[in-house]
Amino acid sequence: MQMSTETFTEEDLSFDKNHIWHPYTSITNPLKVYPVDKADGVYIELADGRRLVDGMSSWWCVQHGYNNERLNAAAIKQIEKMSHVMFGGIAHKPSIEMCKKLVTLLPDELQCVLLADSGSVSIDVGMKMALQYNHSKGRVQKNKFLTIEKGYHGDAFGGLSVCDPINSMHGIYKGFLPQNYFCKTPEISFHCKEKDVERLVEEKDVKPFEAFILKHKDELAGVVMESIVQGAGGMRIYHPFFMKRVRELCSKFDILLILDEVATGLGRTGKMFAFEHASIVPDILCLGKALTGGYLTLSATITTREIGEEISNGPSGCFMHGQTYMANPLACAVASENLSILMEGQWKNQVDNIEKQLYEELGPLVHHPKVADVRILGAIGIVEVKDRVNVEEIQKKFVDLGVWIRPFNKWIYIYPQYITKPKELSLLTNAIREAL
Ligand SMILES: *Cc1c(COP(=O)(O)O)cnc(C)c1O
Repeated sequence: MQMSTETFTEEDLSFDKNHIWHPYTSITNPLKVYPVDKADGVYIELADGRRLVDGMSSWWCVQHGYNNERLNAAAIKQIEKMSHVMFGGIAHKPSIEMCKKLVTLLPDELQCVLLADSGSVSIDVGMKMALQYNHSKGRVQKNKFLTIEKGYHGDAFGGLSVCDPINSMHGIYKGFLPQNYFCKTPEISFHCKEKDVERLVEEKDVKPFEAFILKHKDELAGVVMESIVQGAGGMRIYHPFFMKRVRELCSKFDILLILDEVATGLGRTGKMFAFEHASIVPDILCLGKALTGGYLTLSATITTREIGEEISNGPSGCFMHGQTYMANPLACAVASENLSILMEGQWKNQVDNIEKQLYEELGPLVHHPKVADVRILGAIGIVEVKDRVNVEEIQKKFVDLGVWIRPFNKWIYIYPQYITKPKELSLLTNAIREAL
């Protein structure tokens, strides 16, 4: 490979290839990687000098640009004070300020925050909260979870146990992975235009789910699902009425509702939180990805005071979780500034405008012979193709077209940053049209 800069040598890349695992790749025959050492705004710059418009927000976590002045300043200011300090027995301003903002943004019920270091861990924490809550109540037989197929909840074992069993290859972990319950994924989409859509949702989606609940209610600690948009497990967008009914069923049968908004939280779907589309409040909410604007890894699992108290009144007298880098001050300081940017409110117009443009530019692709479906919500545009894509091949095409889009399975999709300008967004949508 030809490199015009000195930053990457052939030897670097050969070391990378032989020693470093990239996500979901083989160590013996890895997919091609593109060397990058700079990114700014919505542009990722390759080592050979080519600048690509970012269509992925680095796996859905960047909203306000790479190398963002305000986030940089927050990081630098904090790093000069302390990057990290243990959280056991110590309080610090970055976490207090960040959580104050978070609690303000959330519905009043959600008050007690546990900070951890990735989305995957936030799901495991949520599941542990549900188990410990039931344990405290002396209901030890309530130790299973119900979810829907086509979900994705991270790569740690708790979350993995509720990921789509086929897509995440549960067979590999047979005998080890906790056995949870899977109901079929909701059929009725967010955009269903039928007049009696709620009755349809009730018939097609709620009924089978309700049947599961009725059958297993005494074993169920919680329901775990993504809010409205199912990401990496299926790239599907379901109808909010389903979520509303799931909320009702959970309340009725004393099952906790754990919503995974690691990908959808903080504006991505056009609402600050995707559960607002259904006007409900979960018992436990998981946030991650966009929390630090794509700077550092940080997650938050937030629950109600009642659940927090119940957990704390149990035999252990505490919530059994405390990791080394819990509430890392550096990550919290950046997240706090990121939440300030969000609270200023421009995200709403930005996301609405992106949505409008996605409808105009990606919408018509639904008639393309290679396309099975187009799904759009907020700053999310998904083109589902009929045949599985060849990732390496199509990625090269995208790079040649000046954009960074990384499709997988049958999904060519974009999660643009909120600050993406109309022209830049057109580059992304044109590239998808070209690639087809
Ligand atoms: C990415 C993601 C996770 C896992 O978060 P990580 O930070 O990658 O561990 C969990 N749930 C959903 C919905 C996600 O999109």
